Amino acid sequence: MADWVSLDREYIMSTYSRLPIIIDQAKGNYLIDTNQKRYLDLFTGLAVNILGHSHPYLMNALRAQAERFLHISNFFYNTPAITLAQRLIKETLGEGKVYFCSTGAEATEAAIKSIHKWTVKHQNEKQGVVVLKNSFHGRTHGALRLTRQPGIYQDFPTLPIKIYEVEINDSESLQKVCEENNPAAILVEPILGAGGILPLTPDFLQTVQSICEAKDILFCLDEIQTGVGRTGTLFAYQAYDLRPDLILFAKGIGGGLPLGGIIAGKKLMDTFAPGDHGTTFSPSPLSAALGNAVLDVLLDQNQMEIGKEVADFLWSELQKLQREFGNIVEQINGRGMMIGIVTNLDKSSIQTLQQSFLQEGILINVTAGTVIRLLPPLTLTKQEVSHFITIFHQLLSKME
Ligand SMILES: *Cc1c(COP(=O)(O)O)cnc(C)c1O
Repeated sequence: MADWVSLDREYIMSTYSRLPIIIDQAKGNYLIDTNQKRYLDLFTGLAVNILGHSHPYLMNALRAQAERFLHISNFFYNTPAITLAQRLIKETLGEGKVYFCSTGAEATEAAIKSIHKWTVKHQNEKQGVVVLKNSFHGRTHGALRLTRQPGIYQDFPTLPIKIYEVEINDSESLQKVCEENNPAAILVEPILGAGGILPLTPDFLQTVQSICEAKDILFCLDEIQTGVGRTGTLFAYQAYDLRPDLILFAKGIGGGLPLGGIIAGKKLMDTFAPGDHGTTFSPSPLSAALGNAVLDVLLDQNQMEIGKEVADFLWSELQKLQREFGNIVEQINGRGMMIGIVTNLDKSSIQTLQQSFLQEGILINVTAGTVIRLLPPLTLTKQEVSHFITIFHQLLSKME
């Protein structure tokens, strides 16, 4: 067999550190390596495979669309994408429009550009975006500045947009920044994902909303990780009484294929004109067909509710562990199938713990240094939860 580890090191740019297994197949809630060892997947492609792997309903939708066409370009009406946009609007803002792209960072790009267009429409009195400390909104860098066709760049800023950073859940600072600076938008993740599963308090979210309404600032939510049923509602904000102007989505929506976008409410739905924005591949008809299939399973086939029940069970079992091992497990944060277990372990002990889980055939993720991040699929079963908890209990007992 090829030595994939060495070949990866030789030919793939080193931008991620990898787990020491080679995956051969993925089925349901398991990854299977080339030695036929099975691993319970508790972070599912970093929040992408919300329905586990090779879900039969999704595979059928994939085959059906693949038989029709894979790609036709934006010169043509994209029927799966139109259907998906209509459903997303119906399930969220009631009125609005969707712009589709392929990745989360592109959704952020689309958000920035539409915020800018809105700013211009309002005589540039408002400038910049308020974001939170430790937030994560993507990694792209300025392709637009390098594109030298005036028709494409002329309507967009040549200088970096102003960014104001506020501590999470600090309503006072937020108020102050908005009063002193007149920003155009506030962009927050309802639960900061890569930052370590840090939930915003309902109070803080309400403050964001009231500041936005009082000062005509755009209320933008990055639901790229929290969305698509992960926290128990289709989008996390729907657990509260919130009315965002813009919702960013990606990760789970494409059922494993790249798909992202923004849902724009009344204020932003008509900011883009033809030529303002776009990308060749998006929306991929294949991804959009899978997006529709994901919504079918989550909503029509009730998987969101089923997953929520299993998530409740997982939470209660984790809380029992926390009571027993309070000296190691300090806090459990998040909601639904988005869980951050804050430990007092140092970096090397947490890596050892991750390795031990791997040996036991369980995949967990670690973020923000020492937070165990679980992003299990909504198809997880109670038996799988119990198995994970049994192993976790054993490993914690050994560490004490
Ligand atoms: C992952 C993520 C992104 C970036 O998505 P990519 O598809 O990796 O570009 C942006 N925002 C949040 C909240 C994310 O979790």
